[in-house]
Amino acid sequence: ARQEGPDSIRLFNRALSEAEHERQMLVSDLRQAIESQSLSLVYQPQFNTASGQISGCEVLLRWRHPRHGWVSPEHFVGLAERHNLISALSAFVVRQTASELVEAGLLGNGLSRVSVNISALEFSNPALMEVLQQELNAVPQLLPFLQLEITETAALTDLNASVLQLARLKQKGLRFAIDDFGTGYTSLMMLKELPIDEVKIDRAFIRDLLKQPRTIAIVEAITAMARGFGINVVAEGVETSEQLQCLTACGCQEAQGYLLAMPMAIDELANFVSKQKDA
Ligand code: C2E
Ligand code: CA
Ligand code: CA
Ligand code: CA
Repeated sequence: ARQEGPDSIRLFNRALSEAEHERQMLVSDLRQAIESQSLSLVYQPQFNTASGQISGCEVLLRWRHPRHGWVSPEHFVGLAERHNLISALSAFVVRQTASELVEAGLLGNGLSRVSVNISALEFSNPALMEVLQQELNAVPQLLPFLQLEITETAALTDLNASVLQLARLKQKGLRFAIDDFGTGYTSLMMLKELPIDEVKIDRAFIRDLLKQPRTIAIVEAITAMARGFGINVVAEGVETSEQLQCLTACGCQEAQGYLLAMPMAIDELANFVSKQKDA
């Protein structure tokens, strides 16, 4: 058996404080990366399953750390949430998205919808949403094309408050998508209550589509119900042509995933869109 003496406790404490130190370094590096605008954006196109045309794109953050290399957004968005950096992060995304897309001349010209992720913490905090609104007011060119993606958990913290908040923001012309849709127990209630424009069917369903026949019935039901409410449906994480065929047969209007296009930098996006126009 392992010896649990004072030495091992000391070693354990030292390991803990090293991990803590490492984490604080990463937070300060992230703060610096935001300030020096050394984060970058990639865009992943979304497609109409019937026509094959680009219907929109999702903006995804990238951070290349000087020593650790690429850090996953899941990781550093969580860090930003816990260390009061989420507003600065979102402000960067909104401004950078607007400036890159305007410069590339893509807004309303090959691209009619741009989706940006908003963290659950941000959406459920009125003060943070106030800051976000200021940022949005500063990018009037982007606004008519902008859609915000929020996860189910974000809207669920306080459903009544979310209904009011969404209604207010929609009056300003913003559109909303529910991200990772179907993973919560109350997904159907959200469809019923929230004034949303789009649902993005979670990747887990797309992955199981051909392995587990019941998943097809779930996707069909989500699609039919959303359509009945006038809500757009996008399938996430489409990786095979079999999945795409199955989704099309289910009545799903739009798809996004590695099969169709990888997330790409703005220059590549501009090329991609212009090739689509010529095709
Ligand atoms: P998400 O919003 O669900 O984004 C979709 C993720 O799936 C992205 O990962 C994308 O690169 C990946 N993906 C796209 N197609 C496929 C596919 O066919 N197969 C598989 N396996 N994956 C695919 P990414 O870029 O690593 O982002 C991870 C998460 O980080 C996002 O999940 C989102 O929650 C968060 N995130 C990314 N950018 C931002 C941002 O600007 N702001 C905020 N608040 N969160 C962000
Ligand atoms: Ca998303
Ligand atoms: Ca998602
Ligand atoms: Ca996710």
